[in-house]
Amino acid sequence: MKTLKQRPALGGSLIYALIGILWIVISDAVVNRLVESGSQVTLLQTSKGWLFITITAALLYLIMRWGFRQQLKLTERLRLNELVFQAGFEQSRTGICHLDIEGRLIRANPALCELLGYPSGALNGMLLADLLLPGMQDNGGAILRRLARGEQDAGQAESPYRRADGSPLWCQTTITPIVTGSGDLLYYTLFIEDISQRRAAEALQRDSKRRFRAYFDQVPAGIAVISTDGRWLEANKHLRAFLDCSQEDLFSLPWSRLVHPEDREACDRQMLDLSTGVADRITQETRLVCKNGQQMTVSITARSIRGVNGQPESIIILVEDIAARKEVEQRLLESEERYHSLVEASPIPILVHTDGRIVFANEAAVRIAGGVSTADLVGRNVMDFVHPDNSTLMYERMQNIYSGKTVENRDVTLTTSDGRMVEVELLGAPVRFRGRPSAQVILQDVGTRRKNEEALQRFNARLAALYQISQSILSAQSPYEIATGMLQQIDRLIAADRIGVVMFDFGSEEVIPLALKIGSIAQPGPLASIPLYEYPLQDSLWEGQFSHVDDLTTLSELERSPMTDRWGADGMRSYTIFPMLIQGRLIGALHLAQETPGPRSVEELSIARELTDQIAVAINQADLNARIQRHTAELEQRVAERTRELAEANTRLQELDRLKSKFVADVSHELRTPITNLSMYLHLLERTTAPRKRSQYAEVLNTQVTRLARLVEGILDVSRLDLSTRNRVAFSPVRLNLVVEQIASANRPRIETAGLTLDIDLMPELPDVWGEPNQLAQVVANLLNNAVNYTPAGQIILRTGYDERRGNVYLTVSDTGIGIEAEDLPHLFDRFYRGHQPEGLDIPGTGLGLGIVKEIVDLHQGTIVVESTPGSGSTFTVSLPLLGGRS
Ligand code: ADP
Repeated sequence: MKTLKQRPALGGSLIYALIGILWIVISDAVVNRLVESGSQVTLLQTSKGWLFITITAALLYLIMRWGFRQQLKLTERLRLNELVFQAGFEQSRTGICHLDIEGRLIRANPALCELLGYPSGALNGMLLADLLLPGMQDNGGAILRRLARGEQDAGQAESPYRRADGSPLWCQTTITPIVTGSGDLLYYTLFIEDISQRRAAEALQRDSKRRFRAYFDQVPAGIAVISTDGRWLEANKHLRAFLDCSQEDLFSLPWSRLVHPEDREACDRQMLDLSTGVADRITQETRLVCKNGQQMTVSITARSIRGVNGQPESIIILVEDIAARKEVEQRLLESEERYHSLVEASPIPILVHTDGRIVFANEAAVRIAGGVSTADLVGRNVMDFVHPDNSTLMYERMQNIYSGKTVENRDVTLTTSDGRMVEVELLGAPVRFRGRPSAQVILQDVGTRRKNEEALQRFNARLAALYQISQSILSAQSPYEIATGMLQQIDRLIAADRIGVVMFDFGSEEVIPLALKIGSIAQPGPLASIPLYEYPLQDSLWEGQFSHVDDLTTLSELERSPMTDRWGADGMRSYTIFPMLIQGRLIGALHLAQETPGPRSVEELSIARELTDQIAVAINQADLNARIQRHTAELEQRVAERTRELAEANTRLQELDRLKSKFVADVSHELRTPITNLSMYLHLLERTTAPRKRSQYAEVLNTQVTRLARLVEGILDVSRLDLSTRNRVAFSPVRLNLVVEQIASANRPRIETAGLTLDIDLMPELPDVWGEPNQLAQVVANLLNNAVNYTPAGQIILRTGYDERRGNVYLTVSDTGIGIEAEDLPHLFDRFYRGHQPEGLDIPGTGLGLGIVKEIVDLHQGTIVVESTPGSGSTFTVSLPLLGGRS
């Protein structure tokens, strides 16, 4: 700077000296040539000297005056610059500080002091490193060192600061080096912004992910997440263990390669439905092929996870091993085979028909129908053997039996293969044969009926009981329902004074009764459980053998248990217990006790054993089903929860970001106008000398400076409000009347100067409201200020009251001013919105006042409404909840 100024000054002086010398030399030469007389020469020389002095003095005067004016202008411009800079630095809501080359704070603005919890000015002179949390200091230091070496123009870092009270605060720091014109580093400017909210939202997102992860790994079922194009994204431990391969092995091939080639097409089609959003959830049985070639039949429940835009983003797959269910099916098959062998060997004629065709017939049935081998019957139409007189009746019976109904016994006439007519009684019962609804028919020669009646009925009941159990296996009832149903069947087949179906819980060492029958009273579960040690659990049960006691009274001390004692006390003399086993594991028992001592018949024992086996399968199946349903429901709930949490966190982040950007954009837009005006009028002021114009420009400058100050003040209020929203200002009981009175008396002189009257009508003993006194004072002040600004003449009324019906305290501010146009009403509370004004009025304002009012009222969970008639006036009503309502 110095050298630049010095150079023209030195040049000017040299030119001036040269002109002086040339003047002396040339004028001397001219005088000497033209004038001869010595006295004339002296006179001319003297005049020349005076002339030179006069011109030099005039020049000196002009130069000094010009220099002085320049100085004045420079000083003024510097002062204005300083003012604007000072306002920006001091009033900014962003923390700003200047940092010297050693990393020491030269000065920090009040916002930074407040952010870090220090009193104003306390940060000056402190080292930046001391303000960062230990361990992170080097991070800030490294950026600064890089800046000092000129390796980086500006830097940005996210680091935790340590507030005065020791608490951490995550901030984003933007560092800008300030250099001289010649490139020397003067100091750094740091902009420090609180980002703790954003980080909290990010942490929430991470936490939600972690919880999902924990569930994902702990759930005792295979779960995988794949992308919509079939790539693996995740597979849990359980799935990897189940498929017996590492994550790398699993992920090396697409998901669909795991599916058996024959099932792949169907599986791909289902996945396509999920990934295109046609279906949300599918359940399917399929075969998977492990890396070692082993095949596994599994049940797959897949569900699409939709992103924020509603489109499927990935697919979550639950893989269930259904080997256990397969075992159940196998048992069913075995049960069917058992049925066959039982029936085939029976001397009673039995046949089974499905869809009107005979599908099974035993030897006795073949004989009665006049055939030689089963081939004479199997495949034939039932109606071929029915006398035409009975065909309608038979048709009806068939339909009833196929739909699961029981039918009465009937005497009918059959036409045998060899043309005889035989009178038989038909006993029909619905059964499932090879998975299809069928009819089992027992044919009895009417002549021998009486003799065999009793045995037949028992036999039929036994078959019906088996059928009943197969049905409950298929219909997935609850264990209690299964046991209660079974108990009735057993009661019909076996003589017993006490029957019980119980389950063992070895974890809690309890016996859980599923259904009991005492005397003739059946007690369906759930029933109170009893301790395990009370139950007579003989060793033989563990080995799958039933245990029988002929006479309770002969039991030794060791063999007795509280349960056998109770049976004895109730008059029981004998009992039998049958174990329920699943895959060799004891899960429960069936017990039968009787008042008569002695052994049980072989037939009864075989029926009871058979039924116990079937109950075990049915109950285990019910348990499996319940577990699968629980898993699926839980998984679905987790997925829904996580999707919701992610969407919420995302919306919160986006909203925060949007609000911030909008505010910054609005502020810079609003600041630009007065600053442009300021610089334009300053420029004009510099160029104009006319006093009238100068004072006119000065007035405009004054107005703009006032506008700028008001704007900065408004922005400051908004920032303060934002800060209090974030930090949750402390609420306390507030006397609204007191607040109104204070604001009214502070404004009264101004209102009277404007020629307006102010009336105050406050309700005596108004209940306290729950709020922040300074914020409520600002609401009153802003509304009153608007009433004054927008009322050229007339009256302003401040009123408070209590709305008993709504339980609210309210404040109204009414004026007789210019009123508000209908089209302005919806936007009145938007930041920076200014309404239309009647022609010729130019009421200054920023458009921030009502926005601030609305935000404060919202913060207090209150409401604000406005009623206005253009040209007549406006009334703003603020309602606030009562203190009692909050506490
Ligand atoms: P400002 O008054 O600074 O323009 P405000 O946010 O306080 O900003 O008000 C927004 C707009 O609402 C004003 O521009 C004005 O058009 C209208 N307004 C507010 N109060 C009144 C009132 N009492 N009478 C008429 N118009 C009003």
